Amino acid sequence: MNFNYAIVGNGIAGYTAAKEIRKNDKEGTIVLISEEPYETYYRIKITELICEDDTTQPYVCDASWYEEHDVDKELNARVKEIIPEEKRLILENGKEITADKILLAVGASAFVPPIKGVEKKGIFALRKYEDLIQFREYVEKYDRVAVLGGGILGLEAAESLKELGKEVSIIDRSDYVMTRQLNRELGLSLNEQLKDEGYSVYLNKNTECFLGDDKVEGIQFDDGTSIEVDAVLMSMGVRPNLELVKDTAIEINRGILVNEKMETSVEGIYAAGDVVEVHDQVLGLWTASMEMGKVAGSNLSGVEATYDVPKLFTKLDMGDVQIFSVGAIGEGDVYKYDEGVEHHRLFVKDGIVTGAILYGNTKAMGKVKNYVYQQKAIADVQEEVYPFTKA
Ligand SMILES: Cc1cc2nc3c(=O)[nH]c(=O)nc-3n(C[C@H](O)[C@H](O)[C@H](O)COP(=O)(O)OP(=O)(O)OC[C@H]3O[C@@H](n4cnc5c(N)ncnc54)[C@H](O)[C@@H]3O)c2cc1C
Repeated sequence: MNFNYAIVGNGIAGYTAAKEIRKNDKEGTIVLISEEPYETYYRIKITELICEDDTTQPYVCDASWYEEHDVDKELNARVKEIIPEEKRLILENGKEITADKILLAVGASAFVPPIKGVEKKGIFALRKYEDLIQFREYVEKYDRVAVLGGGILGLEAAESLKELGKEVSIIDRSDYVMTRQLNRELGLSLNEQLKDEGYSVYLNKNTECFLGDDKVEGIQFDDGTSIEVDAVLMSMGVRPNLELVKDTAIEINRGILVNEKMETSVEGIYAAGDVVEVHDQVLGLWTASMEMGKVAGSNLSGVEATYDVPKLFTKLDMGDVQIFSVGAIGEGDVYKYDEGVEHHRLFVKDGIVTGAILYGNTKAMGKVKNYVYQQKAIADVQEEVYPFTKA
């Protein structure tokens, strides 16, 4: 089969690229290939579906979209080999697809470290819809669930599990959770707040092995302590899916290397989404993947576009816990505002605001985000939304 455009991966990056190509090229043939048996769905909603009664896939578009836009689908079809020089894809089901141009939007996989006993029943990582269904089915029978990894996705999963009525433990190897978004001082406050909200929080814990015969029954830490659990959810980050391109001419580092037009090192082959490394970053974010897909789709179909360095920020809404974090955290001088449950911080280098945390109330996040991205002088904003004082 020959197409003008072949897109491997129908996550948000691949789907958005197909949409963009069709916008610019009404005639070209497009095929969207995916290992998963489903049309594009909101992967980010998997966490909230942990506690929903209705777990049907949250599809991104109606099933009719593909036919209406003349986009062919190859679902349940893993690409097992790519021959970049020939723009040829070999599928596990025996089919071969050639295309004038190819987009690799194969995403990432959950990182599961090779901890002893990790293969036991009851240990999960959530990346795909299938993972969610299996996890839900398993935890239905049990009460005690441990989330291994206190990053933002781990905390959001912990919240959903608590809502499902589970006894939830949060485990991290650092001495506080959300280390990428919080400084130590506020991280320690969050530890306490999570405990107050009913979570068991275990910090400075390195997992040595999972206990139990066939199924997990506990976690043994390397400090000699252990806890009893019925199920474990691993939330330890993701790794780009690089197997397909590993031994090819397509250059990789931590992800597939692309320029700002989302072009790989091989002409006519583009990459977008969680699988890429762009502007020296591997992002792993929904909106970034969508934007990259749009830029790739545009360039693939002859309309020049570039992907700029993204303006990243994080927001956590977890019961009474409200946190917003942006920029370089924990560096430079600290400016504080503390009032009741609100603890806001600005991080300042050479008089310029380079990072910020809003803790307890995030209503000023729009303004504070601009301080960082517009490189505002602290002298100009110190009194604007809160009266910050130098620590
Ligand atoms: C539970 C969860 C919660 C998240 N929450 C957030 C959030 O709140 N905010 C946020 O910004 N981000 C969040 N993310 C991350 C976000 O979902 C990803 O950044 C985004 O989905 C990446 O899109 P993508 O299209 O690059 O890749 P993916 O969505 O991973 O899609 C890639 C597709 O390619 C397929 N594929 C892979 N290899 C092959 C092959 N060889 N052949 C055929 N098909 C293949 C995969 O099966 C998959 O369907 C979350 C992720 C998860 C798992």
